Formats: sequence, structure tokens, C-alpha cells
Amino acid sequence: MILHTRAASPFYKNGFVAACEDTREAILIDPGDEIAELIDVIRKEHLAVRHILLTHAHMDHVSGVAEAKRATGAPIGVHRDDLFLYNSAVEQGEFFGYTLEQPPPPDFFYEPNQRMTVGRYVVDVHHTPGHSPGGVCLLVTASTPRIHAGPAHVFAGDTLFAGSIGRTDLPGGDYDTLLSSIRNVVFEFGDDAIVHPGHGPDTTVGDERHTNPFLKR
Ligand SMILES: [Zn+2]
Ligand SMILES: [Zn+2]
Repeated sequence: MILHTRAASPFYKNGFVAACEDTREAILIDPGDEIAELIDVIRKEHLAVRHILLTHAHMDHVSGVAEAKRATGAPIGVHRDDLFLYNSAVEQGEFFGYTLEQPPPPDFFYEPNQRMTVGRYVVDVHHTPGHSPGGVCLLVTASTPRIHAGPAHVFAGDTLFAGSIGRTDLPGGDYDTLLSSIRNVVFEFGDDAIVHPGHGPDTTVGDERHTNPFLKR
């Protein structure tokens, strides 16, 4: 899998381009203030973005969606339960003293057990509420077992961080719901799965299961 991560001030929210090395098909995940850099990567790598996928709709994760849509024309997917956040992106920004462009309406809502194909990879959408009501984790795996398929990749948004978990004090957040999403959904992806959080460095499911202070039993 081709994977590029960028983050920009002031939120240092990770935006991702994940692509199939064979077909050059790609997904763009959580485009924010780093979107110009991601579009640069897409052009240099000759990638064709098939979907713009949001892990959730906090404004730092959607501030680059309008520009991403203009550049790629790809359909925008979000969980229906975060639509109230998506629609209020500008107001969320004002609350934090920050100006952003309202993203265009989403093109589709994630269905239960939604699966998308990106070249030789599949993207499975798993609902993981708690940080926000419509938070999801995107699980990317090779569609056919291959010798060098590598581990699964989890784009976790603000559900799980290296050594921490997402905040639950924003509208629709709930601490117990978040913990059960991590334990019952994310931990089921297996210890080898690489986790790409919405902020900060990568980790693995195994590392978080064994060392994350919020999740130790
Ligand atoms: Zn968030
Ligand atoms: Zn965030």
C-alpha cells in the first residue's frame, strides 16, 4: 500500500492518502489544513482518488474537504450520526476562533458493514462512537491474500491515540461508549494491525492493548 501522511498547524491533524501500488486508485482520509500538500502528493504519485472518507466531522478533520472535492471530484462519505457536526463545521471553527470553508454536502452516508474496493485493497467502515456519535474507524486490508500483503491498517480518527484516547467532552461524546468502541471493535482487528490516529504518531493495536493507561484492565 502507498501511504502518505501530512499534518499542518494549528491542529496538527493527520490527513492521509492511501493507494493501491498496482492500480494507483486512492482514498483521501480526513482532508484538513494540510490538503494542499496531499493534493501535491496525489499529482506527483499519479493517483486517482476514488473516495474522500471522513473518520468523523470535527472541523479539524473537514477543513480541507471543499478543496479536496474541487481537486478530485471524488464522492464524500461520512457517518450519518456526525451530519450535525459536518453541517456546523463553520460554527465549530468560530467556537475555536478559527475560520474555514464549509464543506459541500456529503455524497453518501456509511451503511452498516460498508465495504469499498480500492484497487487490490478493501476498506471496511466500522462504527466506533464515543469521541463523536458518528465516529468510525476505517480498516484497510489486502483484498486477496498476497505474500507481501502486510498488516492491516486502521485509520482511527480521534478514537484512539498512541498512549491516549479521544476526548469525550464535545457534543455527543461519551466516555463509556468510547472505551467499549475501542475494546469491542478496534481491539478485534488484531495485535498486528497498524493504527494511524487522527493526531500524533502511529501505533499498533497490540501496543495500545498492553500499554495504554486508559485501556489497561
Ligand atoms: Zn475529533
Ligand atoms: Zn481531531
